[in-house]
Amino acid sequence: CLETFLMATSFLCTINHFHMVASVSLADDDIFNLDIVSKIHTDHDSITKASSDFGHIVEAIPNGVFHPTSPADIVALIRLSISQPKPFAVAARGQGHSARGQALAPGGIVIGMRSMGRGDHGHRVSMSPSSDQLWVDASGEQLWADVLRATLEHGLAPRVWTDYLHITVGGTLSNGGIGGQAFRHGPQIFNVHELDVVTGMGEMITCSPDKNSDLFFAALGGLGQFGVITRARIALEPAPKRVLWVRIAYTDAESFTSDQELLISKPSSASGFDYIEGQVQLNRTLTEGRRSSSFFSASELDQLAKLLLDTGSAAIYYIEGAMYYNDDTASSVNQKLERLLEELNFVPGFAFVRDVSYVEFLDRVGREEQRLRAAGVWDVPHPWLNLFVPRSRILDFDAGVFKGILRDAKPAGPVLMYPMNRDRWDGRMTTATPDGGEDVFYAVGLLRSAVAAGDLERLERENAAVLAFCDREGVGCTQYLPHHASRDGWRRHFGEKWGRLAALKRRYDPRGILSPGQGIFPAAG
Ligand code: FAD
Repeated sequence: CLETFLMATSFLCTINHFHMVASVSLADDDIFNLDIVSKIHTDHDSITKASSDFGHIVEAIPNGVFHPTSPADIVALIRLSISQPKPFAVAARGQGHSARGQALAPGGIVIGMRSMGRGDHGHRVSMSPSSDQLWVDASGEQLWADVLRATLEHGLAPRVWTDYLHITVGGTLSNGGIGGQAFRHGPQIFNVHELDVVTGMGEMITCSPDKNSDLFFAALGGLGQFGVITRARIALEPAPKRVLWVRIAYTDAESFTSDQELLISKPSSASGFDYIEGQVQLNRTLTEGRRSSSFFSASELDQLAKLLLDTGSAAIYYIEGAMYYNDDTASSVNQKLERLLEELNFVPGFAFVRDVSYVEFLDRVGREEQRLRAAGVWDVPHPWLNLFVPRSRILDFDAGVFKGILRDAKPAGPVLMYPMNRDRWDGRMTTATPDGGEDVFYAVGLLRSAVAAGDLERLERENAAVLAFCDREGVGCTQYLPHHASRDGWRRHFGEKWGRLAALKRRYDPRGILSPGQGIFPAAG
């Protein structure tokens, strides 16, 4: 602590000195009149919190945590950094819900983005008064839960959601933002009209597909490398009131995936689901795992465990679907669901339906968070591994991973698996997707927690075995929320996008100060 404090103090002296010099020599530059230094916190609590993240795997101590109250503060901080002979690293931190230190800034300054939403600094989620305008302006630090609350007041809502709403607009747009609506509407980055970005040059730039488009496409999925997103204009749709939330079970991966692909091929909600995901319940998850979940009751889980034992399957798969409805469609939604289920090949009798409000449905992982917090298993290491797998290799992946490497894995958390349509992704955006031009790829999420001693090492070994399997068998997996330890790994990750990315980095963050925790480009210098 003392060392941190001394490091921080000497750093702040440097800043203070610079601040004074800058104020004198650049008296006409208003930016330096902003009180940057007083907004940098170096107390033990602030530093400790900003030294780790949701993953609890990587730690890196920053010299300070900056609490901006406006985008101009961020401009000033970045300009301050790049004005020095040796600039300091700057990392925007939304909720710090990354798993591998992506929002950390070793020896630099973490921007606590959430402080922008506090106090009286104007409306951070603003709706146009015009009723026919289907978009909202949300500041980068806003939680999706806040965007939902504000837009619902107008009967509207974003079209695509992550499974969890307590993460920030800037954080998810820097990755992609995927969820069960992405098969139809694309990821969250495909649903943005315009951004305000503070670049690594300390310039505030408004960008869109038509204006400063290279920065727009770079920042979307850009892993924080090109600028800090301070505002996003997000597409909306009329919000439904209620949802039929459905899970249907399968004992074989072939029927499960072919039904998922049938469902995502339905172009409109008139005949299909509005949301489609899926999960793999590994053998021991059902026989030894928790005895109830936010969806299944204990007796339903017993039924699924019995199905597993009776059929000798390695795993149970289930499709999760959601059908939105309103008062005017309430009388027909059950028939619509029945008709749809008749087209599918799940195990007879294994369809489970809940009728919930739209908000209850969207906030389902928030409720799960409360359960895990109450059980003391939320703030534990999360060695999550998320992959995009080409459709042509998903059954090989299933055979090698779920029926091979993880066949007898100890229960550790949910395993997601659902397909998306590639034509809903814009290749100009930075997020990497599998090569090969197939029109469907799967998101597979091993969202596991290390609760007991030795779990982390074991889960890391299993993750490494999964990645090695993909490499060895040429499955062509691409990491989502990626982590690569080497430059070569990053080059391969981005493939043909790499050259463009490097050029954009030189243009928008030439001193290499932004989001160093990603480890993509050489650190500040
Ligand atoms: P942080 O972790 O704080 O930051 C992530 C990266 O973005 C860092 O490099 C950071 O420097 C940078 N960054 C942060 N804010 C900005 C900004 N304003 N401008 C530029 N760069 C910025 N993801 C999905 O796609 N779908 C899901 O369904 C989903 N479910 C999740 C469920 C849980 C329980 C959790 C913990 C995460 C989930 N995620 C999901 C992952 C989530 O999208 C990432 O964690 C993401 O990073 C958002 O978290 P954050 O806002 O805390 O960002």
